[in-house]
Amino acid sequence: TMQLPRPDRRRIMTVANQKGGVGKTTSTVNLAAGLALQGLNVLVIDLDPQGNASTALGVEHRSGVSSVYEILLGEIGVAEAAVPSKQAGNLLCVPATLDLAGSEIELVTMVAREARLREALRPEVLEKLDVDYVLIDCPPSLGLLTVNAMVAAHEVAIPIQCEYYALEGLGQLLSNIELVQSHLNPSLSISTILLTMYDGRTKLADQVAGEVRQHFGELALRTVIPRSVKISEAPGFGQTVLTYDPGSRGAMSYLDAAREIAERGIERETA
Ligand code: ADP
Ligand code: MG
Repeated sequence: TMQLPRPDRRRIMTVANQKGGVGKTTSTVNLAAGLALQGLNVLVIDLDPQGNASTALGVEHRSGVSSVYEILLGEIGVAEAAVPSKQAGNLLCVPATLDLAGSEIELVTMVAREARLREALRPEVLEKLDVDYVLIDCPPSLGLLTVNAMVAAHEVAIPIQCEYYALEGLGQLLSNIELVQSHLNPSLSISTILLTMYDGRTKLADQVAGEVRQHFGELALRTVIPRSVKISEAPGFGQTVLTYDPGSRGAMSYLDAAREIAERGIERETA
């Protein structure tokens, strides 16, 4: 595979959508692997207590391992919890354990509760880890964990499933992003809309894709992620589809999507 250019400035991208099952985790880990396999240094932050991103990256996340929970509490730094994934040495992951489930409530009484992840991801920390991209996998809610992710990020990527009700609830997500922009993180932008689980045999998938493109214009990536059994099987082997079945359509699509994100970012920065 070809190498991607390193971004001029490090990019922190939050993958969010308060709906479950739309492909947040799948997109986070596969885009991360796509960037890493094309030569970039990537850090995934698993911010969902379910720990699905950790599982997919083959990273231990049983209770007791150093995780994002201790980071949010301020007990440890990112460097102490980040471990290499099973896929590649330049793809790191900070795992999430079930301890994180209680943190939405614990965070409420903490100082600077919305900015704890941003504090942990401050430039000198990421500089030391030498990462080009940080991708944050959010839980399926708009609670304090997702707010922390949006406050810590430069950009948001929204995966949208090409299914019935795909656009339902999107208004709520967009107004939450606006709230974060106006009160907590003015430099946050929506950079990427990714259509997932596209089934070319159905009219519906085309309809949804058309509506999304009409609404979001060129924020929507040209690359569309197909519905693919390989993509859904890979996490069961602690893998992303890029290492599980590199020649598959699913793998190619995430590789393309990662390339598109990397190239668009650079166009924007030099524009
Ligand atoms: P979320 O993180 O938004 O809850 P997931 O990424 O966990 O969503 O995806 C939900 C389910 O759909 C998972 O079982 C996953 O394996 C499956 N899935 C995601 N993307 C695809 C795809 N392109 N093709 C087939 N299955 C997919
Ligand atoms: Mg998930």
